[in-house]
Amino acid sequence: MTTLETGTPGTGGTHSAPDAFDSLDPATGEVVGTHPIADTAAVDAAVARAREAAQWWSGLTFAQRRTHLDAWAGVITRRIAQLADVMRAETGKPHSDAQLEAVMAIGHLTWAAKNAPKVLGRKRVPSGMDMIDHAATVEYLPLGVVGVIGPWNYPVFTPMGSIAYALAAGNAVVFKPSEFTPGVGAWLVDTFTQAVPDHPVLQLVTGLGATGEALCRSGVDKLAFTGSTATGKKVMAACADTLTPVVIEAGGKDALLVDADADLDAAVDAALWGGMSNAGQTCVGTERVYVHEGVYDAFVARLTDLAATIRAGTDPDAQIGPMTMPTQSAVVRRHVLDALDRGGRAVVGGPDSVGEKLIQPTVLVDVPEDSIAVTEETFGPTLTVAKVRDMDEAVRLTNASRYGLGAAVFSKRRGMEIARRIRSGMTAVNSVIAFAAIPSLPFGGVGQSGFGRIHGPDGLREFTFAKSVARRRMPALMAITSFTRTAKTDKILTTLTTLRHGRG
Ligand code: NAD
Repeated sequence: MTTLETGTPGTGGTHSAPDAFDSLDPATGEVVGTHPIADTAAVDAAVARAREAAQWWSGLTFAQRRTHLDAWAGVITRRIAQLADVMRAETGKPHSDAQLEAVMAIGHLTWAAKNAPKVLGRKRVPSGMDMIDHAATVEYLPLGVVGVIGPWNYPVFTPMGSIAYALAAGNAVVFKPSEFTPGVGAWLVDTFTQAVPDHPVLQLVTGLGATGEALCRSGVDKLAFTGSTATGKKVMAACADTLTPVVIEAGGKDALLVDADADLDAAVDAALWGGMSNAGQTCVGTERVYVHEGVYDAFVARLTDLAATIRAGTDPDAQIGPMTMPTQSAVVRRHVLDALDRGGRAVVGGPDSVGEKLIQPTVLVDVPEDSIAVTEETFGPTLTVAKVRDMDEAVRLTNASRYGLGAAVFSKRRGMEIARRIRSGMTAVNSVIAFAAIPSLPFGGVGQSGFGRIHGPDGLREFTFAKSVARRRMPALMAITSFTRTAKTDKILTTLTTLRHGRG
């Protein structure tokens, strides 16, 4: 195997051979596992095997595929505690959070398998008055082989949003997990192989960024990427060379809006969980809070009190774990310092709370809207809280971001109205991140948060192409698509069109 890159992700020290890399426990720095670095030849070989497997998989009926995918869901469910152990070892997240993530992924897997026939199966559609002599049908066919590149922050839930839907739609998948969570990726692929031993319908390629790039250039029929906006741009550029279509699920800077009539306790609880859970390393995590001036002081006071009950640690009682990626602490520190340098105040935590591995909750107020703490993705357990005159101002500031992934609104009377005005792919009303756990809701962003959708009917169609068929069902009433078309036919057509559409 030719080596593209060597080393240990993030932390420097190389424990492994040059064509392998280690995954580390972020809490202790200990090696959790060693994985091969797949080079271009290895990636191409996996894609070639996937192409053969796709022949078999796409030839099955929806019901047969559902049986296989339900069997996989059964294996994951029975071994969920073991999966959560692997997730905790590689990400540092609390065991119960890991288990919740796996439960949500199982929900998506079974929903996709169950609903694929209804969403993608062949349907009759109206053929229209002019083409009444034809029957029209549309169905959504699998693309072939889908490449999935995943991040580390939700190493099960996030890639499964692409993997489950791509498989249910009839594609084979080659999956490159993050270099921080290759053991979780291997666990998923191993259990799939156990449930579906027939053909390599889901395969693993491990490695660093160069392995991901090789997958982009491998000739897969679609590339589903989840990760940072900066890498998303590189993925798109690499895929452009082969005109490989992409789904980009990138970063966010989600806001939570609190109206004057909001249930304040619920809003505080949601802001704290949305901002701090998973140590803030959540693409749809809350990073900014805009609160109506009428309830701002009460909100900040309650948030400050509640935040004091949350602690980052490596012990089982800590609600949040260490930062998964060691370099993220420097980003969080930079954002906190910028906020404070520019006149902001820390009402909870502050620069001293940003350790190398552990970051304690930090809540910042009075931060200028052009501080990087407000404009850039922080990806740490921090929140900025700003006072607004009304919800119009809250919506305007929310929409000023270049990102547009998720959002949350707390309002008793106007929740839906405000939610619909927010330029984001998803919004929760009187709750936070709820949309991610509802499999029938599409998930994805606008702007710098990316494009394309996973989850829901759109998530299934994302991994297909529409196949339209027009079938003559009776002799032609008028020869339209023929050189035998007459002036009389033209006259009838224009008269009909004028009658239907030409009235003033
Ligand atoms: P990242 O961009 O550093 O890496 C993501 C993946 O891309 C990894 O597997 C990595 O190996 C691979 N990669 C790196 N360089 C590549 C290249 N040149 N070509 C192809 N692949 C390459 O992101 P991360 O740090 O793993 O994840 C955190 C980011 O992911 C955050 O910005 C977060 O908001 C985002 N995220 C988004 C969603 C979503 O659904 N929108 C979900 C989870 C995470």
